[in-house]
Amino acid sequence: MGATEDVKFNIGYGKGSADAKDLVNTSSVPLHNEKRVLVDGKRVSTGYFSHSALEQYTRCSKQYEYKYIKREKGRLMFRAKMYGGIVTHDALDELVNSKIQGKPISKETFLSHIDSDLDDKFAKYQEQYISAKIEDLNPEPIDFGARIADPDIFKRLYIAVGSEFYDGHYQNCKPISTEKQFIYHLEVDTGGTIPIVGFIDVIETLGGKPTIVDYKVGAKKSQDDADFSQQLTLYSMAERIPRVAITALQLGTTGGKNPKKAKAGEVVTYLSKRSIKDYARTTENINAALKGIKAGAFPRSGIHNPIVCARTQCPYFDKCMVD
Ligand code: SF4
Repeated sequence: MGATEDVKFNIGYGKGSADAKDLVNTSSVPLHNEKRVLVDGKRVSTGYFSHSALEQYTRCSKQYEYKYIKREKGRLMFRAKMYGGIVTHDALDELVNSKIQGKPISKETFLSHIDSDLDDKFAKYQEQYISAKIEDLNPEPIDFGARIADPDIFKRLYIAVGSEFYDGHYQNCKPISTEKQFIYHLEVDTGGTIPIVGFIDVIETLGGKPTIVDYKVGAKKSQDDADFSQQLTLYSMAERIPRVAITALQLGTTGGKNPKKAKAGEVVTYLSKRSIKDYARTTENINAALKGIKAGAFPRSGIHNPIVCARTQCPYFDKCMVD
């Protein structure tokens, strides 16, 4: 990332511009409406684009079409790590928020929330599965027991990395906000702006300067993830904060049947900075996605990416392969 240059921000809060409304209303296909957005204390249900929807279009346009245009129910994906990530993320939010509120919760409380919430999530899943709602969506039965051979071993990975976060990063961080909602009015090529909404994990003071931080729980991350994340660039544009970072709670491994292969997890912060060039690139990318959606272009663009396009990764895999 280059040095930060002076940037003129086109940013606004509240109602979208007339042009944005026109863009939404004249679209040949419905744009994604974000229903949980609050603007000036009121729930807004139309005309706002969520960044996660745009990301889905970038990942695979066909996936976007299934989810947001055709409103198809995909196969419910069960991944133990997904639940582990959600639960740990929620516990982190609560922890950091407690510091902002001046009533920090203890390490024991923080870790016990991860522990008990994981138990709850797995129990809930089993309940849903038994009630056959999930089974209907899953053509193949899931061997729940086999997926999480030993939930306690699995839980220990999250608790270990949570513990390291508490003793290290958390002790030194000075959080300013958590889960902050933003609305960024992005300039569109045809003139005017379109509002894009999202939530920023954490804004905190790192190294004496305000920094937008995305907490990631799970796989190992790299400096490239922080340097080239479009999500972080958009957050940076919306908040007018050039410094961004990923704080990764990277899980260790238990080694399975071979304890010699066990590896401890670690918490790493990858710092980066955004420049005017990054903003221009992201604006261009989002404009290209918006044009594709408006034109009703939904190619199977994820097909060459095995991380995206696999039976275990894409909820629409079975449908897509026969359509
Ligand atoms: S199966 Fe592959 S191409 Fe089809 S929607 Fe999923 S990711 Fe896209």
